[in-house]
Amino acid sequence: MSSAIDLHSHSTISDGLLTPSELVGRAAAQGVNVLALTDHDDVAGLDEARAAAEAAGITLINGVEISVTWNNRSVHLVGLRIDPAYGPLREGLAAIRAGRGERAKLMAAELDKVGITGSLEGAYAFAANPGIISRTHFARFLVEKGVAKDNRTVFKKYLVKGKPGYVTHRWADLADAVGWILGSGGIAVLAHPGRYDLGRTNLHNLISDFKEAGGTAIEVVTGSHTADQFALFAQYASEFDLLTSCGSDFHGKGESYMDLGRLPGLPSGCQPVWLDWPEVMNRPESKAGFAQLASLNVEGRG
Ligand code: AMP
Ligand code: MN
Ligand code: MN
Ligand code: MN
Repeated sequence: MSSAIDLHSHSTISDGLLTPSELVGRAAAQGVNVLALTDHDDVAGLDEARAAAEAAGITLINGVEISVTWNNRSVHLVGLRIDPAYGPLREGLAAIRAGRGERAKLMAAELDKVGITGSLEGAYAFAANPGIISRTHFARFLVEKGVAKDNRTVFKKYLVKGKPGYVTHRWADLADAVGWILGSGGIAVLAHPGRYDLGRTNLHNLISDFKEAGGTAIEVVTGSHTADQFALFAQYASEFDLLTSCGSDFHGKGESYMDLGRLPGLPSGCQPVWLDWPEVMNRPESKAGFAQLASLNVEGRG
């Protein structure tokens, strides 16, 4: 039994390796029934993904992953069931994308200083959508140059705080980003909270600020979380009365913690985000207790 619901994934519209159609095709082939496409700071892949999902008989959830700065730290929010046509959301995302372009120039200048030239053009050559230039595209360029064997290794020696190619950057405000998501009719999910390397106090403050801003759910099960973190964030969700979400954060084979369709389900006791989503609950699988099935994947996997 593989996981049927995956609410976090990327395509070539941001820093994934597959086009929206290819991503949906792979998801369907791997047994995913419900997929959210959540590209960083852009919703331009949703139309293509929706058409592919209809053809493949799976359900596509409109999503986005918004880059946010909270207390001088980068955190990510996943917006689910958003309306991609909502003006304030579109404008907010456009501003973040413009900031990415500016940051990329500064990153390239930093890499120049350590003798790695041509990285701006080099990174853009890996960006199918030039509107979104990310550290991942720089990482692919650095791998191509031979400075590291893979992206994972690049992010140990470059592009992170204190290493060549890193620049501090101001993303969207937490409350603004939550507001765009809620205003568009969506729900706001705190993405991969285990990735932020925060101590207990900061983590508590982040979740508390997120909740206060109108945040709806917390990503409990995701590719970069350990089993201990599934349990930890399930506990936080219950403490803060937040719903729970799960998503692989798939970017492409070889660049992801977890492939599509391999996601463990939510721990028991979690309230999944989708229990009042008709497009999920009315799927044929629901007749066999789909919601139950999906939330039993951890304990009930055969
Ligand atoms: P950006 O939003 O441009 O700062 O880039 C962040 C992206 O870089 C994330 O969404 C990941 O896809 C990727 N990334 C960050 N850290 C790592 C890492 N340690 N290994 C591989 N990819 C990473
Ligand atoms: Mn990414
Ligand atoms: Mn993220
Ligand atoms: Mn992501």
